[in-house]
Order: sequence, then C-alpha cells, then structure tokens
Amino acid sequence: MNSNAEMDFIKINLESESYKIFFGKDYIENSANYIREFTKTNKIAIITDENTANLYLNKISRSLLESKYEVIHIILKSGEKIKNISSVENVINTLLKKRFERDDLIIGLGGGVIGDLAGFIASIIHRGVNFINFPTTLLAQVDSSIGGKTGVNTKYGKNLIGSFKQPLAVFSDTSSLSTLPVREIKAGYSELVKHALIKDNELFMWLCENWNVIFNQEEEIIKAIKWSSNIKATLVQEDVRERGSRALLNLGHTYAHAIESLLKYDGTILHGEAVSVGIILAYKTSYLLGYSKKDELNKIIEHFNDVGLITDLRKFNKDNIDSDMLLNAMNNDKKVKSGQKTFIIPEGIGKAFISNKINDEIIKSIVDTALAS
Ligand code: NAD
Repeated sequence: MNSNAEMDFIKINLESESYKIFFGKDYIENSANYIREFTKTNKIAIITDENTANLYLNKISRSLLESKYEVIHIILKSGEKIKNISSVENVINTLLKKRFERDDLIIGLGGGVIGDLAGFIASIIHRGVNFINFPTTLLAQVDSSIGGKTGVNTKYGKNLIGSFKQPLAVFSDTSSLSTLPVREIKAGYSELVKHALIKDNELFMWLCENWNVIFNQEEEIIKAIKWSSNIKATLVQEDVRERGSRALLNLGHTYAHAIESLLKYDGTILHGEAVSVGIILAYKTSYLLGYSKKDELNKIIEHFNDVGLITDLRKFNKDNIDSDMLLNAMNNDKKVKSGQKTFIIPEGIGKAFISNKINDEIIKSIVDTALAS
C-alpha cells in the first residue's frame, strides 16, 4: 500500500534533508501505513487546530491507534492568532508532561498556521525531533508545507521567530480540500498564482483558462498543486536558507505582511487575501518603475477579480491602513536589510527580481493612489 512507485509525489532534493511530498486522496485515513517507514517510535503527537480536529483528528488517529501507536492530541484554537510564542511554550510543556521523547514523532495536521507552529516546535523540543506534515488547506499544500520554513508571529511582525526544519515527509491529502470553505480555497489559490507569476507564464495562462475547473475537480486541482509545488521546490532546492533566489517566493509579501500586521491578525483578512492585494501592489510598483506593462497588470487584476480574490486596498478599513502606517509596519519585516526594505519586482508575467532599492516615496505614492477613492 505504501509503495512509493504507486504514489504521486515530488522530491525536494536537499542532500541529507531530502524528502518527498506526496499528493493523493487517502493519506489521512490510512496514515499509519504511510508513516511507518519514516519512524521507529510508537509515540506520536498530533498538533492540530479545532476546525481540523473536528473534521480529521478521529480519522488520522483511528489508523494510528489500530496500528498500536500511542497518540497524544494537542488541539489549539483555529486561526493566525494562535501562531505565537506562548502557544509554543504551552504545547511544549504539555508534550514534556506526557513524556514525549527525542525519538518520538510530531505530526502537524492542519493549514499553514499549524504547519508553521508544529514544525517550529519539532525543531526546538529536545533540540529537534522528527516531523511529518499533513497539510489540509490549499495554501499549505501549495506553499507552506514545502521548504521547511517554520515560525510564529510577534507583536512586531509576522514570522519573526522561527527556524528551518525540513520534515521527513509531507502527505498532501487532497480529499481534505472538499471541506475547506471557498474563501480559504481562494486564499490558497493566490499563493499558487504567485508561483506562476514569478516563474511560469504558461502556468498563469493555464490557470486563467482553467481556474473554474480546478476549483471543482480533484484531478485538475492535483495537477495545479503539483505544477505550482514544483516551482517552489526548484527555488527551495537552489537556495534553501533564502540567501538569494528563494526570496522571489515573497512576491507581494512585503505589502501583505505589513497589511496583516496592521490588522493585528484579527481574522478580518486571510493571509492569502493579503497576498493577493500585495501582488497587485507589487505589480503597480513594477508598472510605475517600467518593468511591467499596463495590460499585464490589468490581466492579473482581471484574473483575481474573476476568481473573487481581493485586489483593492480600499477593501480594508481606512482607519487601520495608510501609507505611513504601512511603511512603518514594513520596517519591522524580517526582510529589512540595513534599513532597506526588500521587494520582489515582477518583470511582466513569469519573471521577477529582488530589489532593495525601492525608496519610501515610491511605496507611499503606490499606497496613496491605491487608497484614493
Ligand atoms: P490556517 O492554517 O489558519 O487554515 C485556514 C482555516 O482553515 C483555519 O480556520 C483552519 O482551521 C481551517 N482548516 C484547515 N484545514 C481545513 C479543512 N481541510 N477543511 C476545513 N477547514 C480547514 O491558514 P492557511 O491559509 O492554511 O495558512 C496561513 C499561514 O501559513 C500563515 O500563518 C502564513 O504565514 C503561513 N505560511 C507559511 C509559509 C511557509 O513557507 N512556512 C508559506 C506561506 C504561508
């Protein structure tokens, strides 16, 4: 049953930290069959959130318990707000109290919030334990489960505490997407499109033609997830520690992280929604600087509007966001180097570059124009 030959996967080649990302339909239900080859322990801690637990915790645990694993359940509240250092401390204390040891395994079951948090805990408890991820949102399957970035937010900004922790394996169970609210599917889709915009014009064209089918058919969504994941995998392999080209994956994120931080992760905006607005602002920056054409910017706005993604900064409460506030929030981003903000500037569709030379006046003018009604 767990023969890799029959399973759909991509491999992340990182020497001793290489691993496979499997795509398919029954990984959660048959978890024990799939994880057995990766661990010798019989103690497994599953870290998840309330929503995911209600839907999938019994399914995954049944399989593990039937195979005589001892299973610890850690269920956190759902949402970005729990991605903080006090959750990390609470979870670690619970695990230690339950005599979780060095050779035991942590499973993350949930979206990007759980993956980032569980991966971070796995990287620091007992100086690092084995970690396997079962991402259950589209965003987590196309993006956050790939490449080993883990972390939590602080009041000063997003993901400012974290580590690189590659999992032993990732099982992207695409059947879990059937329970995901459409709004969350769309939010994940914005990261999928992002991969096309930085590296693959053909994928973007295919998405424009097929997005409706992708949202409704499992076969097509697997194709889209794999295509997009391969782009991320290539960038991760080139530059796992993000010293250079991996940063291209942050297209739209300098804006997005600042927006999320100003809204205090209060749930009014999803990460992927902040990313779609951020991508549009990045294209507006690119257009202003002469790196993208007006029709390219318009094509992306049109596609995001077709899908129902947010493209307009005015969607957010103006009391919370203006250009000075955004610039200030950007200064706390971990991508700031020697006081210079890092931006990913798209060059048309399918190509982008990293720049530390975008001055505050340009950002101010982009944001002021975007907020003007
Ligand atoms: P999320 O983890 O909050 O999940 C979204 C919502 O969907 C939650 O309410 C969750 O409980 C629920 N949910 C999860 N699976 C479900 C399912 N199958 N059916 C129904 N509901 C389900 O959010 P997300 O969008 O998955 O991830 C966002 C996070 O990912 C952010 O914190 C972001 O910073 C992080 N991220 C990390 C990386 C990385 O490289 N590590 C990359 C991109 C984003």
